[in-house]
Amino acid sequence: MKVELKNTTKKLCVIGDPVLHSKSPLIQNTIISALGLDYIYLCQPVKREELPRWLAAAKAAGYAGFNATMPHKEDLVTLMDELDEDAKCYGSVNTVCIKNSKLYGYNTDGRGFLRALLDEGIDPAGKRVVLLGAGGASKAVALKLVQAGVKSLVICNRTEEKAAALCAYSDVMSTELFDPASLRRAVSTADLLVNGTSLGMDGGGGQFDDVSFLEALPKAAAVCDLVYYPAQTELLARAKALGHTTMNGLGMLLNQAIFALEHFTETDLDVPKLRALAENALNVS
Ligand code: NAP
Repeated sequence: MKVELKNTTKKLCVIGDPVLHSKSPLIQNTIISALGLDYIYLCQPVKREELPRWLAAAKAAGYAGFNATMPHKEDLVTLMDELDEDAKCYGSVNTVCIKNSKLYGYNTDGRGFLRALLDEGIDPAGKRVVLLGAGGASKAVALKLVQAGVKSLVICNRTEEKAAALCAYSDVMSTELFDPASLRRAVSTADLLVNGTSLGMDGGGGQFDDVSFLEALPKAAAVCDLVYYPAQTELLARAKALGHTTMNGLGMLLNQAIFALEHFTETDLDVPKLRALAENALNVS
């Protein structure tokens, strides 16, 4: 991958804290290089308390836009001049375009997940879905699943209050507890199970104490994990061994990045082709 720098090259970046582990620069620069776009995508650590100052600096420095990861996604909401519907709905911004010193906030996470699901031939419309988790990623996924027309969505989260708060969005949503018996009961009638917790993630996510609840899941149900590193979590490995269709979080990661680049460049991109290209560059195993 080689990004050619010119005097006209527009700057993009990802901000966060921590952020140096981010795959976004590799994904975006691979696509930028392949398409010959006049952009460069950098990695910028920004502490939470520095966000307003950094926004002013980014405007002054002529940044075209940026992506945001923790801890900035929620804080950005009130700092935008305009928000798209998904950013408003999730109360979270992962993509910002800067035009004429105005900040336009978007959230491409939910769309990225839904597109990945549909690309795997899994249409959630009319399905009974169980989602484990109620954090930032789960919220985007949950609300997008409801918008996509799921029949029911049960949220199981360790902290029950967070699941209950999320359920205020729609009548099709309800909560279950996170203990093995409750999980077993929740999944026993599901068509689709999604893990949106950080359990299974490399680098400190921890592991499920027990994934035997998968034995209660109907055989035709698909199992998705938002975790993409490792490519196959213990949950997905067990689900696969039990004969379920499985999907990891890589498609969501790549799609949300491509949708963000569509906002930055104001062009429609060939999502499947670019996804394959970036996936190859990442070489996740
Ligand atoms: P977050 O906001 O910190 O939420 C973490 C979630 O995991 C919460 O529901 C939390 O439950 C739960 N959790 C954490 N430790 C747990 C434990 N020991 N037992 C039970 N539940 C536990 O994080 P996030 O941003 O939503 O990210 C969640 C996962 O999604 C991460 O693995 C992340 O890598 C992945 N992700 C993937 C993509 C993608 O593009 N594929 C995008 C974003 C995130 P409590 O509410 O009880 O704390």
